[in-house]
Amino acid sequence: MGIKIQTLKFENNMGYGIRITRDDITVQDYLDAINHAILNLDLSRLFTHEKDCFGCPLCCKDRIPLTMVDIQRLAKSPWIMDIIPEKAKKHREDKLYYILRRFSNVSVMGSLVDITMDTSREGICPFLDNVKMICNVYDHRPFVCQSFICCPLEEEAMEIRKAIVNEGEDELVKWLYNHAQKEGLSIWYNEANSYQINPDDFQETAFESKKDYSEIRLKDLLPQKLWNKIRT
Ligand code: SF4
Ligand code: SF4
Repeated sequence: MGIKIQTLKFENNMGYGIRITRDDITVQDYLDAINHAILNLDLSRLFTHEKDCFGCPLCCKDRIPLTMVDIQRLAKSPWIMDIIPEKAKKHREDKLYYILRRFSNVSVMGSLVDITMDTSREGICPFLDNVKMICNVYDHRPFVCQSFICCPLEEEAMEIRKAIVNEGEDELVKWLYNHAQKEGLSIWYNEANSYQINPDDFQETAFESKKDYSEIRLKDLLPQKLWNKIRT
């Protein structure tokens, strides 16, 4: 398969580590392997006494950073499509902007921009049905939701997840800034501290023009040092 999730013992709990055996492994392969491990491996759950991840919404209150691919995937969710006005559905870019405007928070600290899920509803994700306690966009949920499990993990596994989120979020920031400039739209800064965004600072990322996680190779995204550590 090209990616191995290994269970590891961390004192009294079971966690995991990751090794890659092929250069063409994509972010989607990584997500498939993590999802398989969450369902099938004997991994601890540190936030709850539940033995699995169903019916436990505890991690839907955390910070949920969003990536460029996440927004494009959310735009395919039937639940979201039902509540988007017809006018915003006509053009792909209008749809993405509408979803971001309605469901995300943007904060700026100097030149650092953070786009996260809006948690103004008492700190809970807007997509959680808090009667049934289920995710309304489950099949299209963001990368961090798919890749999180409240068990311990090896440092490299933590770094892989962080690197994917950071690159994907950088691409989303770039897209939002450029789209707002092009269309004369505003950006809703929920928090802005010493605002210093300079479009010349935007770097090229592995997410550029990508619509799906299956199009992005881990090798093109991860720092070389990290790749060398996990490639066997
Ligand atoms: S990962 Fe989230 S859903 Fe799963 S058991 Fe932990 S807190 Fe609950
Ligand atoms: S998108 Fe779904 S899984 Fe992710 S935080 Fe929201 S409700 Fe939870």
